[in-house]
Amino acid sequence: MAVLYCRLCRRSAFTGRRHRYSAGHRRRLQEALTQLQEATAAARAAAAAADVASAVQRYDPAEHDGRVWCPCCGRGVRRDGRRGGLALLQAGLMRHLAGPEHRRETARFWRENRAEATLRERCLVPAEEYERFAQALERALAEHQRREEERILQMAADIREAERRQRETVQAALQVGEPTTQSSFEPVAGGGCSFGNI
Ligand SMILES: [Zn+2]
Ligand SMILES: [Zn+2]
Repeated sequence: MAVLYCRLCRRSAFTGRRHRYSAGHRRRLQEALTQLQEATAAARAAAAAADVASAVQRYDPAEHDGRVWCPCCGRGVRRDGRRGGLALLQAGLMRHLAGPEHRRETARFWRENRAEATLRERCLVPAEEYERFAQALERALAEHQRREEERILQMAADIREAERRQRETVQAALQVGEPTTQSSFEPVAGGGCSFGNI
């Protein structure tokens, strides 16, 4: 008798067919498909949002290393993508749901489990939709890069300006210390008590 290992129930069953019709397996199937549908809907909604720029964030392992379990492919899929020090929200999951492996595995999974055919579309992302998202994401990344370069240039300018002021202050301090031809009884200009200096 063929022994089948059921990835959904995480156990071996002696007859695949009978196991797949068991109440426990149907319940787990229902749960897994509901979760996958919800994850797919959330990814597509985020990807369709007008402001894809908000999908580009500074990478934080506590936030952006989460995985979504794909029951069809039998593995965890990274939800967010990563590019250097940046996290791309939902990009990992979108890519998986639009890819050929997932499309093939959902077909097999649906056939094996005799899942409701209409639900399959809710666990896939059309290729054109992913393409649009990927392009919008590239634009958002380029924009982020441009702003980052601007910020660095501004920081460099600020540092140069601060150094220039510091040099001036030092020079002014040195000049105050130098003997001058002015009378030493005159109040120092700019002092808080120089009421008569108009
Ligand atoms: Zn099972
Ligand atoms: Zn998958």
